[in-house]
Amino acid sequence: MQEEVLILGGGVAGCAAAIALAQKGRSVTLIERERTPRHKVCGEFLSGEALEDLHALGIDVVSLGAVPINYVRLAAAQRAAEAPLPFPAKSLTRKALDKALISRAIAVGVRVELGRSVQSLNRTAASTWQVTLEDGSIREAPTVFLATGKHDLRGHARPKDPHRWVAFKMYYRLSPAQADDLGDASELTLYSGGYGGIQPVEDGITNFCCVVQRRYFERAGLRWEGLIANMQKDCPHLAMRLAGAQPLLDKPIAITHIPYGYLRRTTEDSLYCIGDQAAVIPSFTGDGISVALHTARCAAAAYLARESSSVFQPKLRSAMLPQMRLAQAAANGLNNALARAVLPFFLRVWPGAMQVTARLTRVTQPAALAP
Ligand SMILES: Cc1cc2nc3c(=O)[nH]c(=O)nc-3n(C[C@H](O)[C@H](O)[C@H](O)COP(=O)(O)OP(=O)(O)OC[C@H]3O[C@@H](n4cnc5c(N)ncnc54)[C@H](O)[C@@H]3O)c2cc1C
Repeated sequence: MQEEVLILGGGVAGCAAAIALAQKGRSVTLIERERTPRHKVCGEFLSGEALEDLHALGIDVVSLGAVPINYVRLAAAQRAAEAPLPFPAKSLTRKALDKALISRAIAVGVRVELGRSVQSLNRTAASTWQVTLEDGSIREAPTVFLATGKHDLRGHARPKDPHRWVAFKMYYRLSPAQADDLGDASELTLYSGGYGGIQPVEDGITNFCCVVQRRYFERAGLRWEGLIANMQKDCPHLAMRLAGAQPLLDKPIAITHIPYGYLRRTTEDSLYCIGDQAAVIPSFTGDGISVALHTARCAAAAYLARESSSVFQPKLRSAMLPQMRLAQAAANGLNNALARAVLPFFLRVWPGAMQVTARLTRVTQPAALAP
C-alpha cells in the first residue's frame, strides 16, 4: 500500500503532526502500537505553549477535565519556596489527552491503525520508506514522520543515556488536608539522586512522577518501596505530602534510559523526526509535551512548504539549542548537593528566580522555524 505520509507513533507528536497534515488535505496514515491509550510515565503538566498548541489542534482540555496549575513550589530537605507560574498551565492525565488526540486525528480524516507495532523502517532502492509491522505486513510511503517517543526503532536509535535514569509514575489520593495544602500547585521535590513532581490531575487524583539515577535506585534495593522511603527521608516535604495517601495503581509504571539533553542533529531524506525522537528536555521543566507539539507543528509546516527533512532537522536543532542548554544546566544544578541545599532558601529570598527559570526553559520559538 502506498501512502502520502506515514506517521509512526500515535502519542502527542504523532497525533499533532497527523492532524496538522490532514487539515491541509494530505492523506496520512498513523500507526500506533497500543490498541487503546494507557498510562504513560509523565508528570502530566501542560505548559502555556502546550495549551495553545492543543487548542489550535481542536483539543479542549477543560472539557476533558484538566485542572488549573497556578503555582510552582520547590522543596528540598526541610525548606520549601513557592512562586506563581508566569504563564497559565493545567494538568491532565495522558490517558485522557492521548485518547482525545487519537479521536481528533480520526475526525479530521487521518487513517489510524491502532494495535500495530512497527518493527522496522528501511529506505528502498526506489527511494521510498518501507515500514514492516509485527505481522510482517508492509506499508510504503515517500515520507515518514518518526514519532515513537522514548522507543527507538532498530537502525534509528538515539544515543545511550550515561546516567541511566529511571523514571516512575504513581497516582495517589491524598488525604483531604494534604490535597488542600497542595492546592493548584506543581511541587518539585529534590533528592540526592534525582527529583520528583507532585500535582493534582482530574477527578481528585494526584500525580507523583519522579526520575532518579540508577545508582540511587540500586541503593533502595531496586524496589519501589525502598525508593519511595528513601525519597521521603531525603525530602521530608514529600513525606508530609504522602502521609495518609492512598496509592491508586497496584505498582508504579516505570521507564529507563532517558537521553536527557538529546537534540537530533541530522536525519535521512524524507524522514522528519519529532517529539522525543527529535529532542528530550529535562522533565522538571514540564515542557516535553510542548516540545512534542512544537516539533510536530514545525515538521508539518516544513513538509507542506516542501522543505526537505535534511534542512529542517538541523534548523530545528539550532532553534532549540539555547533553551535545551539552559534546561540541562538547571537540571545539573538540581543534581548538585550544595545547590540543592541552598536553592529553596535562595528562592524564598528571591521567588522571582523561579519564574525567570520557568520562562527561560520554555523551548517554543514559533517564529524561528518558519520555513
Ligand atoms: C519522568 C518524566 C516526566 C515528564 N513529565 C512531563 C510533564 O509533566 N509535562 C510535559 O510536558 N512533559 C513531561 N514529560 C515528557 C513527555 O512525556 C514527552 O516528552 C512526550 O510524551 C513526548 O511525546 P512523543 O509523542 O514524542 O512520545 P509519546 O507521547 O510517548 O508517544 C509515542 C507513541 O509511539 C508509540 N510507539 C512506540 N513504539 C512504537 C512502534 N514500534 N510502533 C508503533 N507505535 C509505537 C507509543 O505507544 C506511543 O503512543 C515527562 C517525561 C518523563 C520521562
